[in-house]
Amino acid sequence: MADILYKYKDSVYANITNKCNCSCTFCIRSLKDGVGSADTLWHQQNPTTDEVLNAIRNYDFEGFDELVFCGYGEPTCALETLLAAAKVAKEEKNLRTRLNTNGLGNEENGRNIVPEIAKVIDAVSISLNAPDSKKYSEVTRPKYDGAFDKMVDFATKCKEEIKDVKWSIVDVLPEEDIAKCKALSESTGIKLRIRHFT
Ligand code: SF4
Repeated sequence: MADILYKYKDSVYANITNKCNCSCTFCIRSLKDGVGSADTLWHQQNPTTDEVLNAIRNYDFEGFDELVFCGYGEPTCALETLLAAAKVAKEEKNLRTRLNTNGLGNEENGRNIVPEIAKVIDAVSISLNAPDSKKYSEVTRPKYDGAFDKMVDFATKCKEEIKDVKWSIVDVLPEEDIAKCKALSESTGIKLRIRHFT
């Protein structure tokens, strides 16, 4: 069985589903099976909501103050589990909650999920990946048409309801793309985190 919770660097992560609506060219899932304390993050079968809640309730979070939803898959593809797990993490474990997402959760769930997320998630990090629709589709290979605009709309809605919202890109993008991402960040008021690509 794959780990539902795992430690990586200074945080505990929740790997609640392997389902995803993208097929990113750089996805870590095509490079290795596990991350941090987890030998494998591939579930034989995606965990049920109860299994995720039990894992959180029985986990020793001593020394950690945040739970990050970021598994080998897109957490908003398991929205019911995500919402229930974040609620338990906050209310029973007194943890901050962060969602790392590709930003396509509204499309995946057929509605604006941001108000539901905002009740139980303290911080959202959205993968921007590219500065425009064409490049975005080339690298993320999303299931949906117009995915870049949908991701930007999701980020904008998150910013209206959640205090800590960031886009992230990696530092291997061409300089002109990084400059365009910075411009998008400035025009929308959504912070941009430039991560070192490992
Ligand atoms: S959105 Fe995340 S999990 Fe899905 S393919 Fe891209 S990098 Fe992998």
